[in-house]
Amino acid sequence: MNDPAERYPVARPSLSQLEERYVVDALRSGWISSQGPYLAEFEHRFAQRCAAGQAVATSNGTVALHLVLAAAGIGPGDEVIVPALTYVATANAVAYCGARAVCVDVRRETWCVDPAAVRAAIGPRTRAVIAVDLYGHPADYPALRELCRRHGLLLVADAAESFGATLDGRPTGSLADATTFSFFGNKVITSGEGGCVTTCDPTLAQRMRLLRNQGMDPDRRYYFPVLGYNYRMTNLCAALLCAQLDRADEIIARREWVIAAYEEQLADEPKLSAQPVAPGVRRGPWMAAFLVGARADATSRDALARVLDRLGVQTRPFFVPIPDLPAHHDPTVDRPVADDLSRRGINLPTYVELTESAVKTVVERVRAALGAIG
Ligand SMILES: *Cc1c(COP(=O)(O)O)cnc(C)c1O
Repeated sequence: MNDPAERYPVARPSLSQLEERYVVDALRSGWISSQGPYLAEFEHRFAQRCAAGQAVATSNGTVALHLVLAAAGIGPGDEVIVPALTYVATANAVAYCGARAVCVDVRRETWCVDPAAVRAAIGPRTRAVIAVDLYGHPADYPALRELCRRHGLLLVADAAESFGATLDGRPTGSLADATTFSFFGNKVITSGEGGCVTTCDPTLAQRMRLLRNQGMDPDRRYYFPVLGYNYRMTNLCAALLCAQLDRADEIIARREWVIAAYEEQLADEPKLSAQPVAPGVRRGPWMAAFLVGARADATSRDALARVLDRLGVQTRPFFVPIPDLPAHHDPTVDRPVADDLSRRGINLPTYVELTESAVKTVVERVRAALGAIG
């Protein structure tokens, strides 16, 4: 039965006795720091699952992005093209290198970076493109790969939100030169904090392993030929992730079910539109995402969120466009689609333990809230 006072958070990790068992095993073994058997097992299994040559585990998804760019030698004077609508980490990683994040608009059909806008933004300083699989939807990698190949640019996929997604049957992790993942507490699989880079380029992988470990010469202890970082993952986190990988198919299936249930049950709501899905795409089931109101409606989403909060349903607004953030401020960026999605987008509770009747209750509350805002 659903208690009318029951509150539904927007996200919740799915942690079973398996996670507990592996973490306790790691703890009792004494391997709690950044060496241990779960780390090697996780990297091996994650690379396999992503159909990538190698996986390099990191302490979170933000440093995974920085590690790729640092390993590729991106620095001051360089430009990296990023979508205007993404989590701040995508642009921050570029700034950490002393390079400039050049924002371009996203497509209305995918909510991901527009390859035509990327092409128009390529200049003499451009070194790389970071595509972002926003709200689990893979970016247009065939077009981006071709564009980057022609211009000699590194293509990075920020797949923090798209673990479990495929494009024409190929998993994220295998669609770009390097792909980064996040295992933050609200992501599809999690270790609390954690991240990873997958790549099929052994030279890039080797460089990332060097920089991840403070730049220490693998053949000479305490000799550091380059400036590196401590971006290592712990064996405790890797233990948690091995359990999450054991359960990944079940976690993905359940989250997909939740998103499909919202989309079916809310399909007749004129004020809501579901996330579009491009041909050939299976989304990673991160968070159910809808747009509220008609194009350019700047107030309904926030009104809906306020009423839903009162009714016990936690939601999330979409990201604020990167050029509107003080650290990346740029009023000259033309990004009408990103602005519109940012103002109208909302995420609904998405997690494994959400039962059929709980989804129904959330849907009823969404309908009531839409009625209340008129
Ligand atoms: C979550 C996320 C990241 C990285 O997040 P961390 O919290 O550092 O693990 C990067 N990019 C996007 C798009 C994300 O959603």
